[in-house]
Amino acid sequence: MSCERINALLIEDNAADARLMREMLRDAGEGRFELTCADRLSAGLGCLSGSRMDVVLLDLNLPDSRGLQTLGRVHARARGAPIIVLTAMDDTDLALDAVRGGAQDYLVKEQVNGDLLTRSMRYAIERKRAEDALSEAARHWEETFDAIEDMVTIINRDHRIVRANQSVENAFPGGKVIGALCYELMHGADAPLPACPAEAAFRSGKATHADVYEAEFGERWFGVRAYPITDEAGAVQQVVHVARDITEQKLAEQQLVRERQFSNAVIETAGALIVVLDPEGRIVRFNRACEELTGFSFEEVKGRPLWGVLVVPEEREALSHMSAALTSGVASATLESHWQTKDGQRCLIAWAYTRLSDDEGNVQWLVGTGIDVTEHRQLEEQLRRAAKLEAVGQLAGGVAHDFNNLLTAILGYVDLNLPDIPEGTQLHGDLLHVKDAAKRASNLTRQLLTFSRQQVAAPMALDLNETVGDVCKMLRHLIEEKVEMQVALSEQPLTVMADPAQVGQVLMNLAVNARDAMPDGGLLTVETSVVEILQDEAATGWEADTGRYAVLTVTDTGVGMPPEVTARIFDPFFTTKDVGEGTGLGLSTVYGIVQQHKGFIECQSEPGKGTAFRVCLPFTEVAEAAAQQKTDSGLSTGGDETILLVEDEEEVRTLASRILSDLGYTVLPAADGLEALGLLRHRRDGIDLLVTDLVMPKMGGCELAQSVRLMQPDAKLLFMSGYTGEATAGPGGDLPAVPV
Ligand code: ADP
Ligand code: MG
Repeated sequence: MSCERINALLIEDNAADARLMREMLRDAGEGRFELTCADRLSAGLGCLSGSRMDVVLLDLNLPDSRGLQTLGRVHARARGAPIIVLTAMDDTDLALDAVRGGAQDYLVKEQVNGDLLTRSMRYAIERKRAEDALSEAARHWEETFDAIEDMVTIINRDHRIVRANQSVENAFPGGKVIGALCYELMHGADAPLPACPAEAAFRSGKATHADVYEAEFGERWFGVRAYPITDEAGAVQQVVHVARDITEQKLAEQQLVRERQFSNAVIETAGALIVVLDPEGRIVRFNRACEELTGFSFEEVKGRPLWGVLVVPEEREALSHMSAALTSGVASATLESHWQTKDGQRCLIAWAYTRLSDDEGNVQWLVGTGIDVTEHRQLEEQLRRAAKLEAVGQLAGGVAHDFNNLLTAILGYVDLNLPDIPEGTQLHGDLLHVKDAAKRASNLTRQLLTFSRQQVAAPMALDLNETVGDVCKMLRHLIEEKVEMQVALSEQPLTVMADPAQVGQVLMNLAVNARDAMPDGGLLTVETSVVEILQDEAATGWEADTGRYAVLTVTDTGVGMPPEVTARIFDPFFTTKDVGEGTGLGLSTVYGIVQQHKGFIECQSEPGKGTAFRVCLPFTEVAEAAAQQKTDSGLSTGGDETILLVEDEEEVRTLASRILSDLGYTVLPAADGLEALGLLRHRRDGIDLLVTDLVMPKMGGCELAQSVRLMQPDAKLLFMSGYTGEATAGPGGDLPAVPV
């Protein structure tokens, strides 16, 4: 300001006074004052409109205006320039009034000198500027205060509102905010609320904060901050109370919490395994299904790399490849991997992995959802094996059936002719060889038929202990001396419905295998016992139902088998023995018999240690068994009745017809149903019995039987079949069907 030029306007009608002022300014003003003079108010106002003045020296009593009125008019035109009133010694009261009315200062003309004048003018300018700055700051403050969206109030120690911004005024339209008691206005309460942050700020002298729910206030949430204002002594006199409506934010937070709880519940209760990894493969989430499967708690695996804890060593690399692929762009991947549980078990898990990325596309999480397929795989494997056996069985059964018909014919003819040939002749000896070979062939086909479940078992209630005991006596001859044999039979009778010959065959086949497994000797143990299969065991076992089973265990201390052999032993024709030594039918036959008896078989083996086979047959209660016991009729003695014999297989038909004729019956042989009906039509006396095969070309046994019954209702019927499956399909359900 020191080198600034100051424009001053002097409004003074007394020319002498005016001259004096001008001279004083010239002497004391260091050339900085530019003085314009006006001797009338009108002239002064004209100057003020013309150019901008920094300060006005004003005599209040002018020819065209007097007193405070003069001040008022100059003030209105001065555009903020400070006004110094010039007054006479006897008129200072008026001067003081002028200062109250907006003048910056007054000077008594009689006392004025150059210094006083210049200093007074400078101060007036400075003071005016400071005042302007202050009022501008106050205006800014006011505007800012009102622009704040939060509700801001300043309250007294007694919680009376001394200031409030526009937001508060808006919130309480028509209400008197200033001077109101804060708690009364805001909460309708008659005392400050205990949780009120303003109250706390008064007490502690510190800024405090709280989220407050206002039920009366439109059910809204407010984030309230209270800042203490202290006096020089440090005492809190007032508090600035800022209330921000955070309802939306609060609701969003609550919604978020609810959503998080919801997804947590879904993840934790899901039956599927859910694991979440960070991009480095460290576990960040591990749901309850994972905990239950692995035996590890989340805390135990948290933050550890998945391949370091759970994945089996040989699959770690594959998994880290997959995670690398996912982090570098592949959206999802599926794989099967083995996990190792806390107690060292392996389970096979089918996984689907996806990645979750942030807004910039950076991979944040890898999410794996998995299903434990261990059991599933085992069952699949069993099913595959069973299906394979079934297919081979049907094939073998079909061949064996035809083959057996031929053997029946061969054996029949040998038996028929043998009595007529003198013993000791070459032919007699040869025929005995033929018979022997045919019998062995027949046994082989019977094994095949059993395996394929096409041979009819003749089940009866028997005590497994007895049958096993009987067979064991025979076994001693089969087993070499180097092999010791121990038999331990259960003390309790083990009643099962079984064909004793087939049970014998099971034991024989197992014992022979055991013998072969102990070429250098060892111990063969045959045991019987009882076992109860419970619900959950039945679910995983072979086709076993729950309930009690009689168990036959055959154990050896032989060479044992590696798992890949154990997996195939029941396959027909699977053998590890040299050509000519093994047929590979032993165990498949055992399997067939056991299946036919609705039982199951298990094998445990370890190379070098030995093998144990466990055959389980369903238990039958004795009373039940007794009811099923059938009394067999004695030997057939023959008769003289007429029999219509229908069989498409020529050898069988000729043989049967010959046997029946030899027993005294009149036999009418026919190759099929049509031929048989032709024969019957020509017979006046009818027939006594129809013996027919079930499956034949042109007309089957059932259809034939129906036609015969139409022509001759009293004819007796007897069905034959090589297939047990058809046996129950006979037309007269009460008539027994006898297999050939
Ligand atoms: P075969 O005895 O004619 O080979 P099997 O069906 O009886 O046919 O047995 C199949 C295979 O199972 C045998 O070749 C053998 O490798 C294995 N096996 C069966 N029983 C035993 C056993 N007790 N110890 C070791 N291996 C056995
Ligand atoms: Mg064998």
